[in-house]
Amino acid sequence: MLEPLKTLREIFQAAADLQNPADLLELIVDQVQRVMNSDVCSVYLLDEESNELDLMASRGLNQKAVGRIHLQLGEGLIGYIAEHRSMLNVKCAQEHPNFKLFPEAKEEKFNGFLGVPIISFRKLIGVIAVQKRQAKAFSDEEEAFVITIAAQLAGPLSQWVHLEKDARVEDPVTHEKVNLKFQGVKGAPGVALGKVRWITRTHELESVVERKTEDPKKEHRIFQDALAAAKAEMDTSGDLLEATLPKDVLALFGVYKMILEDKGLSGEIEQHIESGLTAASALKTTVEAHARIFEKMEDSYLRAKAEDIRHIGNRIYAHMHAVDSLQAADIQEPTILVGKDLSITDVAMVPAKYLVGLVCTSGSSLSHIAILANAMGIPAVMGLTEFSNAKIDQSEGIIDGYRGVLFLNPIANLRDEYRRLAKQEAKLIKGLDNLKDEPAETTDGVRVKLYANTGLQADITPGLLRGAEGVGLYRSEIPFMLHESFPSEEEQVKIYRKILEAYAPNPVHMRTLDIGGDKSLPYFTISEENPFLGWRGIRFTLDNAGIFISQVRAMLKAGKATGNLSILLPMISRLDEIDAFYDILEEAIQQLKEAGIDICRPKVGAMIEVPSAMVMLPDIAKRVDYISIGSNDFTQYLLAVDRNNPQVSQLFNWFNPAVLRSLKNIVATAKAHKIPVSVCGEMAADPAAVILLLAMRMDMLSVSAQNLPKVKWVIRTIRYERAKKLWEKAQRMRDEEAILSMLHSELDNLGLGGLIRAGA
Ligand code: PEP
Ligand code: MG
Repeated sequence: MLEPLKTLREIFQAAADLQNPADLLELIVDQVQRVMNSDVCSVYLLDEESNELDLMASRGLNQKAVGRIHLQLGEGLIGYIAEHRSMLNVKCAQEHPNFKLFPEAKEEKFNGFLGVPIISFRKLIGVIAVQKRQAKAFSDEEEAFVITIAAQLAGPLSQWVHLEKDARVEDPVTHEKVNLKFQGVKGAPGVALGKVRWITRTHELESVVERKTEDPKKEHRIFQDALAAAKAEMDTSGDLLEATLPKDVLALFGVYKMILEDKGLSGEIEQHIESGLTAASALKTTVEAHARIFEKMEDSYLRAKAEDIRHIGNRIYAHMHAVDSLQAADIQEPTILVGKDLSITDVAMVPAKYLVGLVCTSGSSLSHIAILANAMGIPAVMGLTEFSNAKIDQSEGIIDGYRGVLFLNPIANLRDEYRRLAKQEAKLIKGLDNLKDEPAETTDGVRVKLYANTGLQADITPGLLRGAEGVGLYRSEIPFMLHESFPSEEEQVKIYRKILEAYAPNPVHMRTLDIGGDKSLPYFTISEENPFLGWRGIRFTLDNAGIFISQVRAMLKAGKATGNLSILLPMISRLDEIDAFYDILEEAIQQLKEAGIDICRPKVGAMIEVPSAMVMLPDIAKRVDYISIGSNDFTQYLLAVDRNNPQVSQLFNWFNPAVLRSLKNIVATAKAHKIPVSVCGEMAADPAAVILLLAMRMDMLSVSAQNLPKVKWVIRTIRYERAKKLWEKAQRMRDEEAILSMLHSELDNLGLGGLIRAGA
C-alpha cells in the first residue's frame, strides 16, 4: 500500500538536514520513484521570467537532459498539464496527440505516464511526472499518491523557487546570496536596519539524555544552585529593563518569577532527583511534562505558557553549565534579535540603544514578545516558521514590522530605500508631533474625532502627548492578561480610574472584557475546537455574570468623579446580548446605589465585528448610543480569513470590496438612526484606508498612539471632496489591488508616499 503521508514525513525529515536547497528536488524524485517503484520520476519547474517549464531533477531519465529541457506552456505532455492545470494519466505517452519526443531524455522506452501539476495559492509552480516501461495507466492508488505529494510539496517548492531566484542575485564583490525575503506576521509596526543576531542556546534542555545518579545529594545541590542563579538573573534583567519598559510590561517578568518560584514544579524536580535521576534529567522530565500539557491547549495564551516553561527550564539548565551564545558585550551596533522563542531575558541582554527589532520564529501578534516590542516602540515580526535552519547570525537585516517581513543581506537598492524610509519615518513622527493641538480636519473643513486605542497603562501618556481627543477603545482585557489571577474589583477601579482621569473631560470608551479567540487569560483555561467561533467577548462575560457585574461596577465607580465613561460591548452577534447587558448594568447601578454610591448612567456602544451585527444594525442602533467597527474582526469574519494565519494573510484585506461595501452600509444605517459611528480596528491606522473612511463620513477614528500623528496628517492634508471622488472610483473597481494602487498613487501625490507604502 502506498502511504503518501509517510513518504512526505520522510522527505521533510531528510530535508531538515539539507545544506543546499537544490538538494530538495533530488530528494523528492528519489523518494517518489523508490516508493512507487516506477521507472522514472521527474520534476519540472516553471521559470516565471521565461514562462518555460524546465526539467530540474529526474530519476530514470538521462541525467544529461536535466537543466537542458525547456518546454513552452502547451508543449508536450508536461506543457499540456501545465497549461490545463490538470493531471494526465495515460497508458502510452507516445499515443497522446500532444506527445513530443526529446531525444536527449532517452524516454522512448517508457509508456505509462502520469503527470500532476504543482500549484500553490493558485499559482502554477511546476509539474511532477512518473513513467514506467509497461504500457498501462497508473492505478487509482498511484494517482492519489502523486496528487497528494504534489499538493503537499507545492508550498515548500514555491519557497524553494523564490530562494533560488533570490540566490541568483549575487553580490558582485562577496558573491554571497543576497536579498532573501522571509514572510511572517506583523508583531509591532516600524522599519529598521541592523545586524541580525540569532539566539542559539549552547545548552538546550531538549538535548539532555536521561541519566541516573548515584549521588542525589550532589544533584540536589546542582539544581538548587542553578535555580538560585536563574532567579538572580531574572532580577538583574528586570533591573536592566526598568528604565526602558513601563511597569505593566515589566510585570511579564512576574510570570517567569512565578514559574521559578513555583514550589510544585521544583518539588517535582526534587522528587525525580530523589528517585535517582540527575539534576538535568529531572529538570528535563518535569519541564517537558508541564510544557506538553500547555502545548496541547487550543488557546494561544496558554500555549505561550509552554514557551515560558521551556524558556525557564533552559535558563536553569544553562546555569548548570555555561551561559548562552549571546553576550551583551558582543553587541555594539544596531541589532535585530532573532530566535525561536525569544524571551524578555534575551531582550534584556541587548543594550536598549542598540536593539532595533525583534523576530520570532514562533508566536503571533499577541505573544508576550510582540506586546513588549510595541511597548518599546520597536518593530517586531512573528511566526517566521520557515526559518529554523537558516545560518543567519551576523547577516545584515531589514525588519519591516508593517508587513511582517525580514530581509537578509539586502541588495544596495533595497537597503537605501529602507534607510530612507526609516529616516523619513523618524522625521515625520517627530515633525508630526507639532500637529498635536491641531484639529483632525480636512482642508475643506470636514472634522473627524481622532481617538487613541489603549490597554497598557504605558499608552496613556503617548496618546495624550500626541493629541488624542479621547480613548476610542480601551481594551480592558489587557490588564486582565497581565495579571496572575482575575484582578479584584478594587484593583480594576484603580486601573480604570487612571485612564479616565488622564483623559477627562474627554470620553473614554471602555470595552468590557474581550477574551476568547486568540486572547485568553493565563489563569482561565478555555479549550475549544474553534476558539474564534466560540466563547468570545460578550458571550463569555454574559455566561460569567459574576466577573461581568464586578467589571461593570468597577468601571462605574472609576468613572463616577470624571463622568467621561462610555461602555463598549465586544463581539455583539445578537440583540438579546445587548438586552442582557442592560440587565447587568441596571443591577450594578442598583447595587452601587444601595451601597450609597450614586452613579450617572454611562453611554453604551456596540462593536460591529460580526456580520450578523451588521445585518441587525437597524435594531441594534435603537438600543445603543453609538457603534464602533472593529475592522480586524469584521474583516476576519466577513471574509472567513484568520487574521493571525500567515498562510492566508494575503486574503486578509480591508480593501476587499465586500468589506468596503459593508462599511458603507453600516455608516448609512448609523446615520439614519442618528448615532455616531467609529472605526477602532487597524484599518483606521492605515493611511490609504483613512481616505475612504473619511469619504464614508465616519465620525471617529481610533488608532494606537504611535499611528495617531500619521493619520492626523492624512486627514489634514486631503480635501474631503477629493476623498469622495476617490471613493466613488473605488466602488467601481473589481478588487483590492486596483483600489490600493489608486490610493497609493494619491498618497504619493500628497507627499507621504514612501512611508505610507511601508505602512500599508
Ligand atoms: C477589532 O476586532 O478590530 C478590534 C478593535 O478588536 P480586537 O482587535 O481587540 O479584537
Ligand atoms: Mg475584535
